[in-house]
Amino acid sequence: MKDRGLLIVLSGPSGVGKGTVRKAIFDNYSNDFDYSISMTTRKKREGEKEGVDYFFRTKEEFEKLIEEGGLLEYAEYVGNYYGTPLDYVNKTLDSGRDVFLEIEVQGALKVRGKMPEAIFIFLSPPNLDELESRIVNRGTDSDEMIQKRMKKAVEELKLIQYYDYVVQNDTVVNAARKIRNIIESEHLKVVRN
Ligand code: 5GP
Repeated sequence: MKDRGLLIVLSGPSGVGKGTVRKAIFDNYSNDFDYSISMTTRKKREGEKEGVDYFFRTKEEFEKLIEEGGLLEYAEYVGNYYGTPLDYVNKTLDSGRDVFLEIEVQGALKVRGKMPEAIFIFLSPPNLDELESRIVNRGTDSDEMIQKRMKKAVEELKLIQYYDYVVQNDTVVNAARKIRNIIESEHLKVVRN
């Protein structure tokens, strides 16, 4: 029987560049892992596609799925729900393939509680000024939202201790390479009984 795949959780403050780094990993390496597309109640941004960037759902639909136990984790993040569909994760891991999650910090901590064997990687900003300018330059958030995201980021940096690895996002190429190396090393680990 094939071994169960690894669950890889990439997390870190919003605006740190998780999405960009994740895309670089998937674009630049031939992967033995699949990206788990999240579900959200937030509005589609320009250029985003249903079933590619997210599964966009109403609040009611999302809450129904929570009740049915259909999510591995979910979090309410600046006014919207985000969550990881459980079925996809389990099926993919059972088939022997790794699953890659890119989620915010509260959700990552919930996964840590449920699946402690997963690999937890924290993507950190080079510094907070850099983080703020990235959020501002993205141009998708109001001033109020930017302040909310920054306040949250400061809190989240205190949670690095719960992770297995911390990768600084100095450049996207470097961060993607380091994460790819972490995953490769995890597969080479000796399993001790
Ligand atoms: P955005 O609105 O910028 O797409 O995402 C906001 C935050 O939600 C990001 O930090 C992103 O990583 C996180 N996120 C995306 N999908 C999920 C998910 O399934 N669960 C959790 N907990 N966070 C998610």
